Amino acid sequence: MRALQLIADRKLELVELPDPPSPADGEVQIGIKSVALNHLDLWGFRGMAFAKRKLPLVVGAEASGEIAAVGPSVTAFKPGDKVVMYGAMTCGHCPACREGRDNLCENVGGIMGFHIDGFARGLINLPARLVIPVPEGVSLRDAACAPIAFGTTEHMLFDNAKLKPGETILVHAGGSGIGSVAIKMAKALGCTVITTVGDDSKAERAKALGADHVINYKTDRFETITRKLTGKKGVDVVFEHVGGEGFNGSLLVLKRGGRLVTCGSTAGPTVTINLMQLFQQQYKIMGSFGASIRNIRDSLSKIAAGMSPIIDSEFALADFEQGLARLESRQVFGKIIVHF
Ligand SMILES: [Zn+2]
Repeated sequence: MRALQLIADRKLELVELPDPPSPADGEVQIGIKSVALNHLDLWGFRGMAFAKRKLPLVVGAEASGEIAAVGPSVTAFKPGDKVVMYGAMTCGHCPACREGRDNLCENVGGIMGFHIDGFARGLINLPARLVIPVPEGVSLRDAACAPIAFGTTEHMLFDNAKLKPGETILVHAGGSGIGSVAIKMAKALGCTVITTVGDDSKAERAKALGADHVINYKTDRFETITRKLTGKKGVDVVFEHVGGEGFNGSLLVLKRGGRLVTCGSTAGPTVTINLMQLFQQQYKIMGSFGASIRNIRDSLSKIAAGMSPIIDSEFALADFEQGLARLESRQVFGKIIVHF
């Protein structure tokens, strides 16, 4: 089978690997069809300080495919079923797993495409409990965006920030994979959405997604505009995944008692915050990482009901380097898909 493998620092290659064996008891074998790229894949080949990685490593943290074979005792799936996969090797029996808080598993064996081999390969065997059916009418291309782009956002907005109808939310980087989904989910709930983008062409596209106000952070200070738009009150929720110098600005635009939820630090992982501001304003800052299997099911239901992902571009596997270059270019608006 073909696989996209990290073979050395910053070096990805399309390689031939042996097919996996027939699926064992409780396992299914999936033929991968579409892989959605993430900054995780880019960080991967830049090498992240905190990740213990053994090379070579198959990349790909989010994908869709079709059941190719089922192991003994598997009754939930049959060959040809369209599926997506949960992206972490959870244990399935710790308290967190039993309660459906999969991303807090106490014995997690690693994140696919990050610590352990990922989904960018022709075939993969997985325990059937980590496999989620794709509803009727959802394409494999769109389904590939459910585990991370949709699942992460669903977990941030609803499990963590507990976003409510009628609230005002600031979504950072509305043109990013998760930013574009956050705009759609918050609008579907009946929220007022303010978003930031890095250029004017993206502003039009963010408006088309439903954003009520779009701020070009390259030409305007988002703090000033957001405070003006909310009559100096601030927003209920900030959807953060950028970090760096903007993080304090995000706190500044929160209403007293407001919630900030974050899942990323592409602009820098270390910030200084003012603790007096934190407790006096009664801010709630929440870290969020990944999603539960339930979040992915809910995401697929939303896609089936018409909340389609924004697809920036699609590439054949042989052209994967163009896809990664586009992701890194920051011209990207929505998701980049590589087809197997
Ligand atoms: Zn567990």
